[in-house]
Amino acid sequence: MPRKQKISKKAAKKLKTAQPQEEFLLQPPRGMRDILPQEQPYWQQVRRVSEKVATDFGYQRVDLPLVEFTNLFTRSIGSGTDIIEKEMYSFSTKGGERVSLRPEFTAGVARAYIQHGMHILPRPVKLYYTGSCYRYDRPQEGRWREFYQFGCEVIGEQNPVLDAQIIQMGWRIIHQLGIRNVKVHVSSIGCPACRKNYRNLLVHYLESKKQKLCIDCKRKLDTNPLRILDCKEDKCIQVRTNAPQSIDHLCDECRIHFKELLEYLEELGIPFELDSALVRGLDYYTKTVFEFFSALSSDDSGKSKRNALGGGGRYDQLIKMLGGEDTPAVGFGLGLDRLVIEMKKLGVRAHKEPNPRIFLAQLGNFAKRKSLRLFESLERAGIMVAESFGRGSLKSQMKIAGRLGVEVTLILGQKEALDGTVIMKDMASGNQEIIDAGKIVDEVKKRLKK
Ligand code: AMP
Repeated sequence: MPRKQKISKKAAKKLKTAQPQEEFLLQPPRGMRDILPQEQPYWQQVRRVSEKVATDFGYQRVDLPLVEFTNLFTRSIGSGTDIIEKEMYSFSTKGGERVSLRPEFTAGVARAYIQHGMHILPRPVKLYYTGSCYRYDRPQEGRWREFYQFGCEVIGEQNPVLDAQIIQMGWRIIHQLGIRNVKVHVSSIGCPACRKNYRNLLVHYLESKKQKLCIDCKRKLDTNPLRILDCKEDKCIQVRTNAPQSIDHLCDECRIHFKELLEYLEELGIPFELDSALVRGLDYYTKTVFEFFSALSSDDSGKSKRNALGGGGRYDQLIKMLGGEDTPAVGFGLGLDRLVIEMKKLGVRAHKEPNPRIFLAQLGNFAKRKSLRLFESLERAGIMVAESFGRGSLKSQMKIAGRLGVEVTLILGQKEALDGTVIMKDMASGNQEIIDAGKIVDEVKKRLKK
């Protein structure tokens, strides 16, 4: 009979508390990905162009936390929206605070504007930002759970000329990235007063067609009927064809605001299309709403897949809603991931960092030490240098220099390190010169000028 094995109390406790092993996946969570070095030229180009346009238009950068209190978003984006209902990454901290990863930037910008008393600054306050956002949506082409945005917000003015300028900036960035054939879809969803009337009209119409709506839209009829207008289900698209349109039901102030905006866009030569289905997914918008679409965002049947490159609008109530003064504002956000996809589809050449024209080779420990210093002197003088300090053999280093196609290789052996000299080899002719180490930076500069 097998003897019963005795185990210590400590081991028994360990066994009791042992958790089943979690599966270890060598990949990021679904809908998230790495952006590897070979992709970076596109991303650098997008960031460079967007930041240049923003600074040219007088915008200043603001960096915000990735995590904010959850109620900042519920209050501003609105509780009946998809983002709040389904897509937020929310959790409690160890201290018991309810926080969320930002699903967008505007709410955070408005929070920062109020918190830092920016209302005392000369108006309008112009801010830009860039960074990642998080939405727990179903991943598909052009839609990730972690994605990147660049955006601008202009805070403190009502005039539609600012709406036009904001659209002009987004359009300019997209255009400068080589993405042509971009169209701006634009609409006005009015102010709270005229939207209320319009909402009633719309609900009245949609109630009469309720049976034809998808399940989700039937529910939205009570919570957020405007969002039925941008449902992608065919049957809902059919229903909305004859639905009342917000731009036909604007109050005088909103109608004039919208008319002036369209006149400014015409003046700027920006192609736009009135789009009554454009309602945007966030509750804080008032008056102007717009989105940028590329001609390539249409599928074969010509029907728009509505993968916008960016979008935005006016949000005159948001700052007050969050506890600030009554402050009008307008802004846009561009989806950097989608801009990169579009650039690739169009075969746009991405920005490439220049290649180094100098290689620094070394032989022996003493020379390696000296090479580190020499590398620093060259780098400080603004000269890009390639090296392979980890290698010992001169042959393998010269091979790398040849592969990189540099014009000049500097060679530092034991003898040169002791003499205070450097060998400068012209890679095309194979000629070598011995140069005083103190003069090498100037000599290299002269050579590169040639
Ligand atoms: P929105 O304010 O939701 O319209 O977002 C602004 C822009 O961000 C959109 O026009 C897209 O270009 C981009 N965007 C939004 N959600 C995603 C996502 N899940 N994945 C990739 N890009 C996105």
